[in-house]
Amino acid sequence: MPFHVMLIPTLGCPSKCSYCWSSEVGSPVMSIETVKETVEWLKTFRDDAVTFTFHGGEPLLAGPDFYRKALPMIAKGLSGRNVAFALQTNLWLMTPELAKIFKEYNIPIGSSLDGPKGLNDLQRSKGYYDKTMKGYKIARDNGLEVKFISTFTSYSVKYKEDIFNFFLKNGWTLKLHPALPSLRSDEPEKWALDPEEYGELLVYLLDKYLENMGKIDVMNIDHLCKCVFTRRGTVCTFVDCMGDTFAVGPDGSIYPCYRFVGMPKYVMGNVHDHPSKEDLARSKAWKLMFQYKKFVDKSCKECAHIKYCRGGCPYNAIAPTDGKIKGVDPDCVAYKRIFGEITDRFNNELFGASGTESAAFGLDPMRAASPGIMSIMLKKL
Ligand code: SF4
Ligand code: SF4
Repeated sequence: MPFHVMLIPTLGCPSKCSYCWSSEVGSPVMSIETVKETVEWLKTFRDDAVTFTFHGGEPLLAGPDFYRKALPMIAKGLSGRNVAFALQTNLWLMTPELAKIFKEYNIPIGSSLDGPKGLNDLQRSKGYYDKTMKGYKIARDNGLEVKFISTFTSYSVKYKEDIFNFFLKNGWTLKLHPALPSLRSDEPEKWALDPEEYGELLVYLLDKYLENMGKIDVMNIDHLCKCVFTRRGTVCTFVDCMGDTFAVGPDGSIYPCYRFVGMPKYVMGNVHDHPSKEDLARSKAWKLMFQYKKFVDKSCKECAHIKYCRGGCPYNAIAPTDGKIKGVDPDCVAYKRIFGEITDRFNNELFGASGTESAAFGLDPMRAASPGIMSIMLKKL
């Protein structure tokens, strides 16, 4: 079973995005010693394939020396494990030197861009767009693959068509992220995307995607359709992530996910102590994550989508209530809306009004004229 380790070299970030929930001014930068200890810890912790994602804060703040040492240290230290890497960055600090280091390991890059320049800079800070584009060009010129995530907020959702067209026009894959309530802000809900609006946005994007099939990829819709088709989650939000995802903070603290990094109550251990799974399982945070899993089994028992939703993201459910399990992920409303819509359309395509299966396989000339859910479900991700 592959697992995922998110390395958070720092929680610091040069940008000041309005709805940010994960950066921390003055955060230290991870030492190479901590990377070494992470490798030593993982040598005995478990021996499956592992993906490392460098995340933040802004991970490029760690600088080229850090990556020049860290990447071979991990790849060689865990050779034979099928090690893969990924990087999530705003790209401001990308340099040809860094890009060459990442290219050696063929590291795919995820970056953040909310839409056209005016809208993006209003949400993410003045000058953001140009700085990200500069880094994007360097990354691309050095052969790196970059995909952008667009955070939809209570504000930008009003401009959903402009955002979709912006991605379409640029020939970029669209991946969306709903703005979460920022636990570091005095007005946590100000930018957060309302779950009902989020559900409607997903249905809107499903329609736009089908309308523009072959011209753009909308990753969330691909994943949601795959979830329904295979009846299992295909992204972390829709699987039981606990026990298979870990994050290591700048000081070596181990958390259940990058979203909890910097919150002391969610520390499960430290890489410098090389904890076993049993050691981590004794921590409060580990127990809480597994209590959430049990809670979902009970609370979502009657839901038709439980197999491929699994109660959504535990962070969304338990962080805003200060670690108390009071309900499932508040975006449940959105998940139900889109999973229901995909299921209904799929059944309709499959059985049609006549109750035959012909339409689904393109045998009905009327239906074959425009792509349907089935065409997304059968796409290779
Ligand atoms: S806590 Fe949420 S974001 Fe983190 S791995 Fe789990 S589902 Fe994904
Ligand atoms: S859609 Fe809602 S009720 Fe259904 S499994 Fe997901 S979180 Fe639970």
